Amino acid sequence: MAQAALLAVTGDEHELRALARDLECAYGSRYRVLSASSASEALETLRRMQLGGEAVALLLVGQRLPQSSGLELLEQASTLFPEAKRVLLTTFADAQAVIGAIKKARIDHYVVKPWQPPEENLYPALNDLLSGWEPSSGLAAGSVRVIGYRFSPRSHETRDFCARNCVPFQWLDIERDPEARRLFAASGVKASALPLVIFPDGTQLVQPTNAEIAEKIGLKVRPEGKFYDLVIVGSGPAGLAASVYGASEGLRTVMIERHAPGGQAGLSSMIENYLGFPAGLSGRDLARRGVAQARKFGVEIVAPQTVTRLRADGPSRVVTLSDGSELSAHVVLLTPGVEWRRLDVPGIERLTGAGVYYGGTLAEAFFCRGEDIYIVGGANAAGQAALYFSRYAKTVTMLVREDSLAKYMSQYLIEQIEATRNVRVRLQTIVVGVQGDTRLEAITIRDTAAGKEDTLPTSALFIFIGAEPHTEWLDGVVERDSRGFILTGPDLEDRSAGGKMERPSGWTLEREPYRLESSVPGIFAAGDVRSGSVKRVAAGVGEGAAAVQFIHQYLGSTRQERR
Ligand SMILES: Cc1cc2nc3c(=O)[nH]c(=O)nc-3n(C[C@H](O)[C@H](O)[C@H](O)COP(=O)(O)OP(=O)(O)OC[C@H]3O[C@@H](n4cnc5c(N)ncnc54)[C@H](O)[C@@H]3O)c2cc1C
Repeated sequence: MAQAALLAVTGDEHELRALARDLECAYGSRYRVLSASSASEALETLRRMQLGGEAVALLLVGQRLPQSSGLELLEQASTLFPEAKRVLLTTFADAQAVIGAIKKARIDHYVVKPWQPPEENLYPALNDLLSGWEPSSGLAAGSVRVIGYRFSPRSHETRDFCARNCVPFQWLDIERDPEARRLFAASGVKASALPLVIFPDGTQLVQPTNAEIAEKIGLKVRPEGKFYDLVIVGSGPAGLAASVYGASEGLRTVMIERHAPGGQAGLSSMIENYLGFPAGLSGRDLARRGVAQARKFGVEIVAPQTVTRLRADGPSRVVTLSDGSELSAHVVLLTPGVEWRRLDVPGIERLTGAGVYYGGTLAEAFFCRGEDIYIVGGANAAGQAALYFSRYAKTVTMLVREDSLAKYMSQYLIEQIEATRNVRVRLQTIVVGVQGDTRLEAITIRDTAAGKEDTLPTSALFIFIGAEPHTEWLDGVVERDSRGFILTGPDLEDRSAGGKMERPSGWTLEREPYRLESSVPGIFAAGDVRSGSVKRVAAGVGEGAAAVQFIHQYLGSTRQERR
């Protein structure tokens, strides 16, 4: 396949030459640099490339083009190359208007002219965007190849694991891709044993577990040490933030993650309300940045590995990992977040991963090209997913139990949904049935207001119906509320009847629990899993950072006791 392209578009000949030269200079060895002097020329180039199956990594477009605007061009281009990063080149005077238009045109970034010196004003932003594009493109040199059936749950799990861990991989569908059939025939593997994963060094793994893939691509699946200052359970925004603050302040820190760094936030197609990112950022980008920052400070990230038990052993806090090994620390911080609630419909378990998916498994979006797909849920996560999938699917229908989107969705998302032609919303509608033997073929929905049922053919149902904590493994260890969220600080004391303040049972210290401390001294909790927490990325990050402050106080107090 030809190298992916970067396309520069502006109507000013002199500016276009300078832009192409600067792009060539920094990226010419990895990308083809193309240029166009008008929107029509650019669209013609893009259509030709799409027909030829070529890839476009980035569009850098001037705001004012002859007979058109750069925003219009970027909007049109997004239907041809939805994954390409979109950057608008603007002037200082126009930048204000651009900020208003960011949402509509879904641009990733804007660069203010003059961009010289490019080392300061152009390359850092483009490097960042390209490093976000490369893992998702499957085109990066030496990428892993995954061969399987689109509707096989095992294949879905492997794709999802690679995508969420930012492993560059190329998906080859055995039913559609001649290259997949050729590699499969040469491998000697049975069709029932797919997926087959082929690594750049030629090694093949048949139906590998996520841990086997992780080990092969060099992720750390076992901790290096036996004792740490701080063990963090879960690497969503709260865990990542705590790890950055903890390690940067000298705590020897290890973070254990069951799936992939980023947590729920890593599933978000576009986070638009996190401070400092006016154009929004995808969850995968946030996770990638968080992981890089944590590693910079020396945090050990162990994944995939699940913490299955936790106990206090004298001054140590000990966690057991899913491989049976144990790890001790002065302090454990629990940030395991929440998980999607399952939809209770007969037969749905069988089709999970084969057309029915929980959460925004973004890796599935590519397969929905030209299809009619359905999303269950009416809160922000469902709205984000509908907008993201609308770039690929023919139609996206949101099935919402409530009588209004406004009940659980932010206004900015409602406005975008209303403005998106191929997204439809069916209010007061629930899913009551799913059909299909080995893959989803249709769903049955009920209009609860009219009392009418309909069966609709579809190949994909994405479910976002609220989340709940899975903290059963902490039973008898730390106190939780009736829904399983972990109680911390003042919430532990307020629970006593009659307003009388009481310490948690078993609490023997003179002092009260710190604000984010659980009912066991030295075990803290932050983020979505904490009772009463605000379920937002910024809140998780804030609590993760604040927890480190309390952890220092705890460590200081135990040092004093030892003296
Ligand atoms: C699709 C989607 C879109 C969203 N969009 C937005 C948005 O636009 N703006 C916003 O502010 N918020 C958004 N949210 C909410 C936000 O993502 C969450 O509030 C935030 O991620 C919570 O962070 P956390 O670190 O507490 O937990 P999580 O993000 O849930 O991370 C917990 C991590 O712990 C791991 N884990 C769990 N148990 C264990 C165990 N036993 N051992 C090891 N690891 C474990 C999990 O695998 C997970 O990676 C969105 C959520 C979703 C799902």
